[in-house]
Amino acid sequence: MNYKTRFAPSPTGYLHIGGLRTALYNYLFIKKYGGKMILRIEDTDRERYIANADKQIIDTLKTFGINFDIGPYYQSERLDLYKKFVQQLISEDKAYYCFCSKERLEKLREEQQKNKQIPKYDRHCTSLSKKEIQEKLNNNESFVIRLKLPENEDVVFEDEVYGQVKINTKDLDDQVLLKSDGYPTYHLAVVIDDHDMGISHIIRGEEWLPSTPKHIILYKMFSWEIPKFIHLPLLLNPDRSKLSKRQGDVAAEDFLKKGYLPEAIINYIAFLGWNPKTTKEIYSMDELIQDFSVDKINKAGAVFDVDKLNWINAEYIKNIVKEKGEKYKEIIKILPNYIKETTNEKMLEKIFIVLSSRLNYFEQLKEDSQFFFNLQNYNADHLIFKKSNKELTIKGLKIVKESLESLNDELIEEQINTLLNKVMTQNNLNPGDIFWPLRFALSGLEKSPSPAEILWILGKDESLKRINLAIEKLEK
Ligand code: GLU
Repeated sequence: MNYKTRFAPSPTGYLHIGGLRTALYNYLFIKKYGGKMILRIEDTDRERYIANADKQIIDTLKTFGINFDIGPYYQSERLDLYKKFVQQLISEDKAYYCFCSKERLEKLREEQQKNKQIPKYDRHCTSLSKKEIQEKLNNNESFVIRLKLPENEDVVFEDEVYGQVKINTKDLDDQVLLKSDGYPTYHLAVVIDDHDMGISHIIRGEEWLPSTPKHIILYKMFSWEIPKFIHLPLLLNPDRSKLSKRQGDVAAEDFLKKGYLPEAIINYIAFLGWNPKTTKEIYSMDELIQDFSVDKINKAGAVFDVDKLNWINAEYIKNIVKEKGEKYKEIIKILPNYIKETTNEKMLEKIFIVLSSRLNYFEQLKEDSQFFFNLQNYNADHLIFKKSNKELTIKGLKIVKESLESLNDELIEEQINTLLNKVMTQNNLNPGDIFWPLRFALSGLEKSPSPAEILWILGKDESLKRINLAIEKLEK
């Protein structure tokens, strides 16, 4: 069997995290089992169409390392094909013209709702004769084409994840296939394209599961082979409502902008609905491909947990700093995007190295690095550790100051630590008399990197300035 999958986004805006997950699973599937992946832009909803959204989606997919083999196809360029098949259905009495006005349909729906009936079209236009239809067409009356559902027929299909789905046609509506603007609806175009493009496996979000019976009916009407369906579990907010913008970012682009690594995002979202059933949590794309299998896709909705994404991204950052490879060099180059207070490359790199161990994503560098450039005003009391006192704190800071003055301009982290430990023991002081006040004097913060790390970044002059200021505040 020739495997073919497709990712079929609608160009209605950014790439949703759920869309990225769908694209990823299609990609993993096709790389794992062999075959080709198609990109198809489903741009038939002209009201929701956003110019250039397609290009942005394509660029974003590329950034994430998801490459397709064929396409992009655009449904808007395939209108003749859809019309041809609609004509075929009409001639076989499987679809019909509907000239009902919006107002009539509205009224019908209201009445049905009042009578507690399922709202659906009442087949008013099926009574039109060929002649009447032709007259209306000649008069340029607006129309849609509707599917003529078989009556009281069970539609049954197997989903690879959700199992058997069964519904009777009496619970379905005569779906619009062709809209009054001449564009097909999603339901018509998706079936024609999936067939025409030879798609073997349809992998998409669970929200399309209820639409699938309508698609099955069309496959049967055309006598086409039915592809395999793999629906992916819903993505949820932490409160288990459907993942939405109201509770945080949902655009893949937003996470890239914040400075999450594409590899880490991929790693995280691979787990949203799939579980390798091991304890391993860090997966490269190649490892994901190797371990991916459809039978490990879950049915239950997957909660999008930013804390977990943060943890994974932090692991990637630590690893990059440890390995100091190509990726490290790339990151060093983009640091000025986040830290705008200096262009000193050495300093930027040092800041990154020191902050990297506590970093979840790069945008945090903006705020976390502030104290290197702007020491905030603080109260002298903060300099005194709870087990120390003013005199010992002043003593500690003065000793540090003197020993720092004897060092070179270029301070080295280990050297500083050795020095601090030496002067502490020599002078019979405790860590609280030296390390605490020094760290606070240098950062002005309750929490910060260690004094040696800050000294290494600030250099001798700025550090001495900050220590002097602290002594002044204490002696006041
Ligand atoms: N255009 C649909 C979407 O934006 C695709 C649904 C499908 O994959 O069949 O999600």
